[in-house]
Amino acid sequence: MSNSLKINVQTIPEEGLNIVFSGDGKWFAQCLQDNDQPDFSLQKADVECRITKASSTIFIKGNLSALLVISCGRCLEDATLPVAADFSYTLVPLKPEIKEEVEIQADELEISYYQGDFIDLTAIVCEQIILQIPIKPLCSEECKGLCPRCGINKNVASCNCDSEFVDPRLAVLKNIKIN
Ligand SMILES: [Zn+2]
Ligand SMILES: [Zn+2]
Repeated sequence: MSNSLKINVQTIPEEGLNIVFSGDGKWFAQCLQDNDQPDFSLQKADVECRITKASSTIFIKGNLSALLVISCGRCLEDATLPVAADFSYTLVPLKPEIKEEVEIQADELEISYYQGDFIDLTAIVCEQIILQIPIKPLCSEECKGLCPRCGINKNVASCNCDSEFVDPRLAVLKNIKIN
């Protein structure tokens, strides 16, 4: 059992290694590249992984559960979304002299590469977190969103725009002045 995401492959025992890791928003911010500016933040991530090794091939099976803070696609308020995922990766040692060739194969076989004696699961865990972001996040399925006319958040307040709503096509006609 380990709670580090950096693993010395030489120390993975025959029966496998279990990893339990918890990361917070600060941890996640550190593992992003400088040019990555995600439009969400991480509140908490819990990861459990089982790592096994056969010769120099490393198998990673894990599950992630995380809380993301992301702005709702309808009302734009921050919403805390629970997400979860199972993942598995296969890592093989990278041979530098055939690097270009294996990169092409990597896509096809869904195999990743490691170099030297250490593997770092940080990138894998970050990738899994980013993959869980919904395309259209909602604070709740019932979110009423913003009023398209006055912009009020209809979850917390109401306005009278609906009652005086005029179809935009009719509004054009309404403004025509007849001489
Ligand atoms: Zn909302
Ligand atoms: Zn309104």
